Amino acid sequence: MARPLLAQINLAALRANLARARAAAPGAKVLAVVKANAYGHGLTRVLPALDDADGVALVELDAASTLRERHYTRRILLLEGFFEERELPELSQRRLATVVHNEEQAAMLERAVLPRAIEVFVKVNTGMNRLGFAGDKVARVCERLANSPSVAALRLMTHFARADEEDGVAEALAEFDAACRGLPYPRSLANSAGVFRHGEVGGEFVRPGIMLYGATPFPFDTAEMLGLQPVMTLRSELIAIQDLKANDSVGYGAQYTASRPQRIGVVACGYGDGYPRGAPNGTPVLVCGRKARVAGRVSMDLITVDLTEVPEARVGSPVVLWGEGLPVDDVAAAASTVGYELLCALAPRVRVHVTEVGRVDLEL
Ligand SMILES: *Cc1c(COP(=O)(O)O)cnc(C)c1O
Repeated sequence: MARPLLAQINLAALRANLARARAAAPGAKVLAVVKANAYGHGLTRVLPALDDADGVALVELDAASTLRERHYTRRILLLEGFFEERELPELSQRRLATVVHNEEQAAMLERAVLPRAIEVFVKVNTGMNRLGFAGDKVARVCERLANSPSVAALRLMTHFARADEEDGVAEALAEFDAACRGLPYPRSLANSAGVFRHGEVGGEFVRPGIMLYGATPFPFDTAEMLGLQPVMTLRSELIAIQDLKANDSVGYGAQYTASRPQRIGVVACGYGDGYPRGAPNGTPVLVCGRKARVAGRVSMDLITVDLTEVPEARVGSPVVLWGEGLPVDDVAAAASTVGYELLCALAPRVRVHVTEVGRVDLEL
């Protein structure tokens, strides 16, 4: 028997979430964001479930090239663009669209002599203050790029700093509109939070990421409220049970001490698998489909849970760390982080099963 830890990837859920994105942004082209190995789900694994997307967006050139080698023919957008001039021939040959967010990239494109011109998304800084041109530079850079033989088509984009907040896009939208006034190019503005506000945000291309994987981009609206289904379910089993006496403690640093006789379940999953080490006592875990709580410090290979509410639990009982029945967002909140981080952190040693509609189809 293999170590029981397993990440199930449900492609039917991913398809449903993609349909949700399409429905929320009618008329827009959907670029599915698949950076960080499809948010930890495995880019080549999830690809079959993205055939209804108009393209994908990511930051890794090697992954983009792999997609072309696997005969992915739709649009691929590099969200940070290129980093060196010598990458440009590869972008050109592989028909990769690129973000241009600074003067250096614009100058490299102007200098380059390429076999085929490249589609360019000019990034406008609307208050995130990480990447992008200041509003008053946008018209000029567009003019330069429009005249460059290396540029096939221009698009305008921005990335909101506060799309998850109630009044978070109005100011940024006004800045974007002012920066792009009179420029006749298609636009891309919305991440997942923006997709749910598409009526307000607009744009010809949307860039949903986290919602495709069934987690929420918002602090208060849950994935379920948004009609999203979890794609990754991280499953394991109890591999030992300890009976504690009052005042016995468990794990490194004795971070949990029993106040009365208590059963503790030991789960095969730890931070070496991507479970957050910061998950404190009380973090939810499902055992036999019922809510139990982390008790004691998360270690590399194991976590320990209080079985008081699950008297039927035995060695071999099923455990869900997150996914079906336990939103990754709930675990993330307990660990003071976001679902994005937990999903991206799934470790390479975790076995993965790809399923459709709950049925295990193949192991990759
Ligand atoms: C990651 C990313 C997205 C997707 O964001 P989500 O919140 O996961 O939907 C969209 N656009 C850009 C530029 C990104 O870097």
